[in-house]
Amino acid sequence: MQHKISRRALVKSGLIAGALVPAIGLIGNNASAALPPLDPNDPTAKGLAFVTDATKVNASANPTYKPSQKCSNCAQYQGKPTDPVAGCNLFPGHSVPAAGWCKAWAQKPGA
Ligand code: SF4
Repeated sequence: MQHKISRRALVKSGLIAGALVPAIGLIGNNASAALPPLDPNDPTAKGLAFVTDATKVNASANPTYKPSQKCSNCAQYQGKPTDPVAGCNLFPGHSVPAAGWCKAWAQKPGA
């Protein structure tokens, strides 16, 4: 059986495709939120003393830690400071919470 594609169907599919392109762009902009959260028990995360809540940092074991330090103001944080989660340059393929911290924390310029 042969199907004819009507001009109406082509126009309709073109409109759908046109509507999906910006939607895909929006998904791309928020890709970090879709990343799986970094597991604090991940060997690399553990090695860097990663915690999901910076207020829980063991300060005696991490003397460089200061209470103002958290992922959201770290140079490695890939999101905006207001994003609740974002990717981290040190942990590709995972997201970290804005309130997290690890030993690799470095001041984000201008934050
Ligand atoms: S490098 Fe920075 S953003 Fe990444 S987990 Fe450590 S403190 Fe958070």
